[in-house]
Amino acid sequence: MSSDTQIIEEKIVKVNGDTAIKRYSKGRFLGKGGFAKVYEFVCLETKQVTAGKIMEKSALSKARARQKLMSEIKIHRSLHHTNIVRFEHYFEDESNVYIMLELCTNQSLNDLVRRRKRLVELEVQCYLQQVLSALKYMHSHRVIHRDIKLGNIFLSDKMEIKMGDLGLAAKLEFEGERKRTICGTPNYIAPEILEGKNGHSYEVDVWSFGVLMYTMMIGKPPFETNDVKTTYKRIKMNAYTFPDHISISEEARDLISRILVTDPMERPTIDDMLNHAFFTKNPIPKLLPTSTLAVPPSSS
Ligand code: ADP
Repeated sequence: MSSDTQIIEEKIVKVNGDTAIKRYSKGRFLGKGGFAKVYEFVCLETKQVTAGKIMEKSALSKARARQKLMSEIKIHRSLHHTNIVRFEHYFEDESNVYIMLELCTNQSLNDLVRRRKRLVELEVQCYLQQVLSALKYMHSHRVIHRDIKLGNIFLSDKMEIKMGDLGLAAKLEFEGERKRTICGTPNYIAPEILEGKNGHSYEVDVWSFGVLMYTMMIGKPPFETNDVKTTYKRIKMNAYTFPDHISISEEARDLISRILVTDPMERPTIDDMLNHAFFTKNPIPKLLPTSTLAVPPSSS
């Protein structure tokens, strides 16, 4: 450990009132998001390595920001699934709030697609089957993720899919509740959120999943333009095409076209998607080798 390694101390209050200190060394920088910076944390006692998401309290001074963080924590800690980044625990000191998460050592799908330009169908099948498994679990617990995109889906050391960033997730109080907050990431946002008339529900995740699938196969999002307003216009008009120079299978094209429809009620359910020929026409490997981080899987 170099002399300038920062040590973070977690104060633990035991049931009997005694306090203990758990120490972590803050290591490699992993990435940053809207409010947070994420680093590798090593517990000095157990040597366990986790991803520590650090949020400055000064950025959480507004009640709304704090509430949002508390909601993210409440929802994330209630979810337990192999394909969702595991929430370990959280704590705070004078300056920051720390969320300790399962470490995903092989970066996000955004990094992967950038490096590889686009993925081959077998990879898309393998990754998206896992995404659907996580989504099915979330929806069955009345949680809508609301920010499904390449940058929020990570790969573990074993190349397993881990869905992360529950920062925009919503838990429905009752089945049939409609959400009204306008949120999401421009390229992935569903048309009913932009229209904002009747609220939205689980179907916004299905839409974003369709955008995700297109982006993995084609290498860029279907409605992307140089400015957000034009992108929104294209989403509302459902104006996207499949480029001629990239060959994609009939099944892939069919599934994407069934998902990216304006009326949320017309979109397939998660089970419809899992049973679609895109996922059933050939055997799909459970995991892919780490070599595919750099080069396509060999077709042999
Ligand atoms: P925000 O909620 O502020 O957008 P994110 O949760 O998206 O923050 O995290 C920001 C970045 O930190 C991610 O893009 C990724 O690079 C990195 N990161 C987040 N969680 C993990 C994790 N569990 N393992 C490895 N890297 C992570």
